[in-house]
Amino acid sequence: MSEEIKEQSRGEQLRKALLYEKKNGYDRLAPGELEAMETYCVGYKQFLDAGKTERECVDRTIALAENAGFRPYVRGTELKAGDKVYRVNRGKAITLAVIGKKPLDQGANIGAAHIDSPRLDLKQNPLYEAEELAFLKTHYYGGLRKYQWVTIPLELHGVVALKGGQTVRVSVGNGQGDPLFTIDDLLPHLGAEQSKKPLGEAIPAESLNILVGSRPLDRDEGKDRIKLSVLELLNRKYGITEEDFISAELSAVPAFNACDIGFDRSLIGSYGHDDRVCAYACLTAILQLTAPEYTAVCMLADKEEIGSEGVTGMKSAAFDTFMEDLCQAQGIPLRACYEKSFCLSADVTAAYDPNFADVYEKCNSAFVNYGMGLCKYTGARGKSGASDASAEVVARVRRVLDNANVVWQMAELGKVDAGGGGTVAAYMAERNIDTLDAGVPVLSMHAPFETVGKLDCYMTFKGIKAVFEEI
Ligand code: MN
Ligand code: MN
Repeated sequence: MSEEIKEQSRGEQLRKALLYEKKNGYDRLAPGELEAMETYCVGYKQFLDAGKTERECVDRTIALAENAGFRPYVRGTELKAGDKVYRVNRGKAITLAVIGKKPLDQGANIGAAHIDSPRLDLKQNPLYEAEELAFLKTHYYGGLRKYQWVTIPLELHGVVALKGGQTVRVSVGNGQGDPLFTIDDLLPHLGAEQSKKPLGEAIPAESLNILVGSRPLDRDEGKDRIKLSVLELLNRKYGITEEDFISAELSAVPAFNACDIGFDRSLIGSYGHDDRVCAYACLTAILQLTAPEYTAVCMLADKEEIGSEGVTGMKSAAFDTFMEDLCQAQGIPLRACYEKSFCLSADVTAAYDPNFADVYEKCNSAFVNYGMGLCKYTGARGKSGASDASAEVVARVRRVLDNANVVWQMAELGKVDAGGGGTVAAYMAERNIDTLDAGVPVLSMHAPFETVGKLDCYMTFKGIKAVFEEI
């Protein structure tokens, strides 16, 4: 063997031994995994179509959980390994647990995702008539780009709570033959001035008014005949009056059902991947557990998109109360459980988009089809607001994922100082729980129609399951 060839093979050996090689997930799938991925994604698309608000996601979760043997936890009830329990927080958030073989002072493995998504909430006095058209006024929820929400079909989902204590469910748009709604925009012929404005200013929030009717009340000479006609329809269907909007939570969401994207059907397009894609992964993983070593907990939170605030957000003590109830059943103080626990803050990250390459930093971005994205830190302007998992925690997760043959990658949202974002990770870490961000890379995050890779959805499920089973 010549000296030259020896040198080459030494280089190859070193390359193999020392370099961190990133590989497309499709080149790393085990036999049978393509089929498992497709089956998983069929279930995920059904979950998306059934849950367009956090309340609907909770309902769907309860149905799936009950079917898998989970029961509402009654405070004070004894718990043994393999018991499957859940608790709903005000219809908008839900926590599920499978009790482990080890007692809770050995810690729990938690998967925490959120089921609220950016949308247009109706104001409390929403309905008005202008030039014989009826509109609903909105206040947008979460970080959205307002120009994306005009001239698309919208559905209306939510509840109207009546003074008498009854709550009326509203869902218009995803039933067979349902009407839809929309927000109008300027025609290009008259858009000369609007087109000169920056994207963020072209569509002011107060112009996001939803068109809901145009036919006047017949045989009537009074004012607001269109508005009155709309109210008559609402009264007939839901038994509500205009004043009842005051205690309503109604949201306009995009009227798109989940669908395959691409000639090869390798992607899923839908409203609300952020963060139902991780919520479904956590949920499916916990539903498949029997009796794990450590107690597994799946937390599906509300209000992440507006800072995890409020009684149903991740900052709420509702989570601690549930966990404390579980701990008390074993005579264990909550703080002893938390300090040994681990949380995967399962939330989406930005997928590298070659069409907008200048906001990403290629070495540290997550790529579609490269698997579950681990984020050591999120935040903005110097990691502000980040949980920043410790090196030891990241190492532990690397080990667990590799042992389970999960395709994963490191992920950072974008270029430093290009922007930023946060998740529930910081609020779990505040509880003295080791926490790492991980989730699915998304294209067009927070848009009415977001896109994810099927492989990444499946690998995130596999990763969370591995955490529940192996840590
Ligand atoms: Mn999210
Ligand atoms: Mn988000």
